[in-house]
Amino acid sequence: MNLARDQNSIKAGTIIYKKSLTPELIIIRIQPDGGKVPDFEAGQFITLGLKPRDAAGDGSLVYRAYSIASPPEEKRYFELYIKWILEPVAGKFTSTLIDLKEGDTVFWKKPTGSFTIEEKMIDGSPDTRRLILVAAGTGLAPFISYILHLRSKGSRRQIILLHGARFVAELGYRDLLESLASNKENGWDFKYIPAISRPDDPLSRGWIGYTGRVESLLVEKQGKSALENIAGEKITPANSIFHVCGYHGTIDAVTSILAPLGFVTNKNKRQDGSFDIKIEIYG
Ligand SMILES: Cc1cc2nc3c(=O)[nH]c(=O)nc-3n(C[C@H](O)[C@H](O)[C@H](O)COP(=O)(O)OP(=O)(O)OC[C@H]3O[C@@H](n4cnc5c(N)ncnc54)[C@H](O)[C@@H]3O)c2cc1C
Repeated sequence: MNLARDQNSIKAGTIIYKKSLTPELIIIRIQPDGGKVPDFEAGQFITLGLKPRDAAGDGSLVYRAYSIASPPEEKRYFELYIKWILEPVAGKFTSTLIDLKEGDTVFWKKPTGSFTIEEKMIDGSPDTRRLILVAAGTGLAPFISYILHLRSKGSRRQIILLHGARFVAELGYRDLLESLASNKENGWDFKYIPAISRPDDPLSRGWIGYTGRVESLLVEKQGKSALENIAGEKITPANSIFHVCGYHGTIDAVTSILAPLGFVTNKNKRQDGSFDIKIEIYG
């Protein structure tokens, strides 16, 4: 393994926990070897490194970014929520990662990234707008970190999480999120809205919640979207900021539904630097 180039930034860690939600979807915890998790902000990612099974013999590591699902307050391990990519071709990194076991080593580079919670408006005043978090698949990971962090600091900001998955079995963190949504103590105001895009599949048996792709919750039907029914008012850039995470399809769909309502993204800010949709694209 060639660590010389990046000696200081590559660290080893041990997988201390692995849970398979389905054969393609895992939650893992990585404990940094010989130390605790460094400081980071909710929403940031780490870069993992491993040697793919099919690597041609030079021993070099392959790296991929993974959002940290655990909150910054969790110093014992990084928790990650990862999907094994099988299409259009089997993923180079995830096809190896999926077979790793508790006790195995992976490499990691320090947390980074700017997909963090917007705390201030452009004029420096506190941003108290409703946080609407839209996740597709494992795009949920940074939002688990946001939510646990906001909960632990006693936030009273309204949070609505929309999570889209193909099957019920792919609604990772559902028990945790339902439990957080049922808790109203100390002004905590969190709503969890999952949507299933393949409700007829046996893996979705018994589902009675929202169906369709997650962005369909934003589409107006008879003058109001499902999201507006949940929020109890018209969603505008003055009362809500969106954070959207996942693959291109979801991000493009959400931004094109919101653009006519006056929302602009952090990739295309207004002249004064303001924006009301923050996006993280996985690939
Ligand atoms: C900032 C950031 C954070 C990320 N966080 C997460 C996370 O928390 N969880 C997570 O599971 N992934 C996350 N990703 C994606 C991750 O970095 C890898 O891209 C992903 O795991 C695929 O790696 P691979 O080597 O297995 O696939 P590759 O070998 O890189 O790709 C194989 C083929 O699949 C295509 N492909 C790759 N991913 C997808 C996809 N999801 N859907 C459709 N086609 C795809 C590629 O274009 C390619 O054709 C994140 C990406 C970024 C940039």
